[in-house]
Amino acid sequence: MAESKTEQIKELSRYLRGTIAETLHSDASHFGEEEIQLLKFHGTYQQDDRDTRGELRKAGLDKAWSFMVRTKIPGGHLAAADYLKLDQIATDLSNQTIRITTRQNFQYHLVLKGGLRECIARITQSGITTVGACGDIVRNVMASPSPLHTPAHGDAQKLADELTQALFPQTRAYAEIWLNGGKLYPPPAAENEPLYGQHYLPRKFKIGVIVPPRNDVDIYTHDIGYVAHAPNGQVEGYTILVGGGFGMTHGKLKTYPVLAKPLFYVAREHAVAAGVAIVTVQRDYGNREDRSRARMKYLIEERGLAWFRQEVEARLPAPTEPPKPLQLTTVADMLGWHEQGDGKLFCGVFVPQGRIQDTGAGRYRSAFREIARQLGCPIRLTPNCNILFCNFRPDQRQTMDQMLKQYGVPSDEGMTEARKTSHACVALPTCGLALAESERVFGPVMDEIDQILRALQLEKEPILIRMAGCPNGCSRPYNADISFVGRAPGKYALFVGGSMTGDRLVGLEKKVVELKDIPAVVKTYLEEFVARREDGEIFSAYWGRTHQPGLRPEPEQFHFELAERSARLAATSQDGPLE
Ligand code: SF4
Repeated sequence: MAESKTEQIKELSRYLRGTIAETLHSDASHFGEEEIQLLKFHGTYQQDDRDTRGELRKAGLDKAWSFMVRTKIPGGHLAAADYLKLDQIATDLSNQTIRITTRQNFQYHLVLKGGLRECIARITQSGITTVGACGDIVRNVMASPSPLHTPAHGDAQKLADELTQALFPQTRAYAEIWLNGGKLYPPPAAENEPLYGQHYLPRKFKIGVIVPPRNDVDIYTHDIGYVAHAPNGQVEGYTILVGGGFGMTHGKLKTYPVLAKPLFYVAREHAVAAGVAIVTVQRDYGNREDRSRARMKYLIEERGLAWFRQEVEARLPAPTEPPKPLQLTTVADMLGWHEQGDGKLFCGVFVPQGRIQDTGAGRYRSAFREIARQLGCPIRLTPNCNILFCNFRPDQRQTMDQMLKQYGVPSDEGMTEARKTSHACVALPTCGLALAESERVFGPVMDEIDQILRALQLEKEPILIRMAGCPNGCSRPYNADISFVGRAPGKYALFVGGSMTGDRLVGLEKKVVELKDIPAVVKTYLEEFVARREDGEIFSAYWGRTHQPGLRPEPEQFHFELAERSARLAATSQDGPLE
């Protein structure tokens, strides 16, 4: 089998240059297919407004093209001053909103081609990059967001920074295109990618770091997951998990979600080298012919974990040990007020679907801007798309509370536990792969589910509810307690049986649920939970006891025959999930 077209595009791109600069500075309304593939490495996806597609087509007009631009922020950690610069970019160049992603990044939507270069340049000037936020490369390295002042939490962020440095691409194409006014230089003889080579990786590659017991980066969903081992407070080493990933290709039974498995334990001083060794095994052996099977999870499944471990150890000049036992508690964020451990406080704020915007339900953008401006507190973005404001003196707490109230940002105190951990992907109108709504409908759906939870006195129960607009699973629906995955407009598959600890895959419960019926369907599961739960049992434990979900549902569970319309939508959409 020949290498995929994307592999050829990368090879001929002169280290990701292609013809991006020429088209960027031309009158063309949009980029061509080959350029789109390369643009991803630079941190942007070309999209079009799907709400207006039909109307424009009927009128014989071009699509309403725009760009999603994604930052890369290791551990989701940034200063207040950086936040203010990024906020101003949203005002000047995007749709007045900032979306927190599930990888602790920011995304801008509806950036026009004429403002694309300025957008990326200004992000870079603010000290943050977009390089490798998308594309076949190591994406943003995530780390436990809780700003607890323990040596282990400090080390998790440090490791995320070290891995980012070690796995950063070396091409000068980014600087030439976005920062030097598009003045392209031929790649000098010295330019190469010592780690990635001309072909970069076969597919996207995700890394996360956690400090137990919290699993607050959903560690089982990553290509590489680092779990800190700090028996006496200081990190001695990391247990490394490999081969997780939720992305799938619609209708292809050979693609399915997989949870990461423990590989080995390494001492702290070898943690970065172990990550590099794993990346190079995927680089050298990953599938470059069939992109739908190119993630590292399939390589490990095909060759076996023992083979994979042997291959990694052969490239790692350091001893490894068997993985340490893992005991994780929750994937949830620490919302509300908490002590950091250094005399200061942090405040976690729930952001509906991660969208920082001003609406009648809360002026989140105005509030966060003023908090950053007046209180100057550093920020952590969470993998559940929420935001933590850090380093408050105790006497600043009242001011912070007043500011949130002033701008109508709801306190987490009145929220159901399910709402606090709920999340939905972007989907329509910007995601080219969406088969159904997600972000735009999830709030009202959760409002109804909240009422049911309160009526059943389950408002304090941790129940993980997620929604995705297509099977790619950007919102990580396949390890939630209850999830809805779009399969056609207004229609969702219902999955149940993941867990609050993130270590169990769901099973398919219903192939099709109409959007309007979701709350009623959820109610039946919640009523059954109330009737059958044992004392103190949370939903995840109850489901595990009563349904004995397997570790690996059959691939058929994640695929169904597509409705005609969704097949057409899928055929016209772009390659690759968005988060
Ligand atoms: Fe949602 Fe991701 Fe699918 Fe787009 S690709 S609809 S963001 S799950």
